[in-house]
Amino acid sequence: MKIARRRFTTQKREMARTLVENRLSYINKFYNFKINRIAIKNTVTRWGSCSSKGNLNFNYKIIYLKPELADYLIVHELCHLGELNHSKRFWALVSKTIPDYQKINKELRRVHIKLI
Ligand SMILES: [Zn+2]
Repeated sequence: MKIARRRFTTQKREMARTLVENRLSYINKFYNFKINRIAIKNTVTRWGSCSSKGNLNFNYKIIYLKPELADYLIVHELCHLGELNHSKRFWALVSKTIPDYQKINKELRRVHIKLI
């Protein structure tokens, strides 16, 4: 029982990795940031995070999001490679590829509540 469950999770993790890597390589053609490592995690409270070393982390539940929201998450973490904060300059970076990011951010918050 335990093994079967773990396998299932690994499968989801792989799905999430494929999705994130595909979209990242596409979106990063625009930004050209240097990505160090991509990790897929099973965090309860976060969709994603970024470290100053250039590591991007994503929640595997990204596979359940509609493409618009998944792209926003990926752009958000990717832009932290340029600005490791939520300053005006950071949001200006995000808006270059997602002009209506505020609307999407709000929608994502609602989904987030449902997921938890
Ligand atoms: Zn952020």
